[in-house]
Amino acid sequence: MNIHEYQAKQLFRDFAIPVPQGAVATTADQAQQITQQLPGSAWVVKAQIHAGARGKAGGVKVAHSAQEAADFASSMLGSQMVTHQTDAHGLPVNSVWVEEASAIKNEFYLSLLVDRDSERLIFIASAAGGMDIEAVAAETPEKIIHVSVHPAAGLQAYQCRQVGAILGLGKEQQGQLQKIMTGMYELFLAKDCSQIEINPLIETEDGKLVALDAKMNFDDNAVPAHADIAAMRDASQEDTKEAEAKQFDLNYITLDGNIGCMVNGAGLAMATMDMVKLKGGAPANFLDVGGGTNKDKVKAAFKLILSDGTTKAVLVNIFGGIVKCDVIAAGILAAVEEMHLTIPVVVRLEGTNVELGLSMLAQSGLGLHTAEDLNSAAEMVVKLAEGVGGSLPPTALPPSMEVGA
Ligand code: GDP
Ligand code: MN
Repeated sequence: MNIHEYQAKQLFRDFAIPVPQGAVATTADQAQQITQQLPGSAWVVKAQIHAGARGKAGGVKVAHSAQEAADFASSMLGSQMVTHQTDAHGLPVNSVWVEEASAIKNEFYLSLLVDRDSERLIFIASAAGGMDIEAVAAETPEKIIHVSVHPAAGLQAYQCRQVGAILGLGKEQQGQLQKIMTGMYELFLAKDCSQIEINPLIETEDGKLVALDAKMNFDDNAVPAHADIAAMRDASQEDTKEAEAKQFDLNYITLDGNIGCMVNGAGLAMATMDMVKLKGGAPANFLDVGGGTNKDKVKAAFKLILSDGTTKAVLVNIFGGIVKCDVIAAGILAAVEEMHLTIPVVVRLEGTNVELGLSMLAQSGLGLHTAEDLNSAAEMVVKLAEGVGGSLPPTALPPSMEVGA
């Protein structure tokens, strides 16, 4: 689960990590009033969305008067903000954070996350802050330091000094960094985080280290154990399709390709996506319909896959283990018929009662394409999505599975 910058900054404050003074506003008037209560003569108005890269998208603006702050707030509030990190629809800006402007001398990158390889928490730091850390990692990996914390020993002072050295900090800032890293480490453990990212961590003109941005993610399985964190959930920032999928107990993740995938089992779903990629296509989603699939689930799954209109073809890849293939076939047929599907659907079934399932699809007259194995199914669906598969015979049954053979 993600939270907003303003919520993360409150948690930072609770754990003695310095942040600029500010408050959250949901109207332009409020934004204006907040500037009056803050020190200084310039303020930063920041769109609150669950995505970064707002700066480049016009979501971070420095105002030099209360009126200007109100104007920035009013242009951001109510808009859909599209950044590098959102999809093409963007995310709704329902609130803005208004804070005192900081005079920046240096921008650094500092984050804490779970390193699955070492099974430890690691700090990642770089003097190249304010930038896309993935780009820094790809182009100048020597500018990044990884510091892994032993769970029994905890964060050590020398490790903070290692980070301070790569950031080129003076002695006084070194002490501040140690407090910040200690705060991050304690916050991470206390709230079952999966990531804390400060980008940028700044050194101000007067030598103070301050978290100028704050991004926190939490382990979904741990959120119910933390009422304060659970209360920070903002459903308006979550993918509506993913939320709908949860209702039907489907594991669904939106992706940016055009081939819808309906698969049972997370492993099979991953393999299916890999195969689609291998054949030159791009999956529109990850979807695991689970073991106990039924007609309603299959229908809900088709709806999700088709809802945004970008899907050009659907690949159904189901292994009938717990569920029999004829039950799945009946579900697919009902869903396709009820939804008046016009885009091509490729079905690959395997498992119990596969012959029966395939013959039901073949006899339906609904123009479904069937494939014998995952390899040919992926090839077929990629061609169909490209619009060059028109000559493929629909309902082509492998010879061994001809009805009555
Ligand atoms: P992000 O683009 O969503 O990651 O938003 P950030 O909070 O990181 O802000 C983007 C950039 O805006 C920062 O890297 C800074 O360069 C700039 N910025 C943000 N707040 C201030 C501020 O108080 N003063 C100045 N001078 N620049 C700021
Ligand atoms: Mn940032």
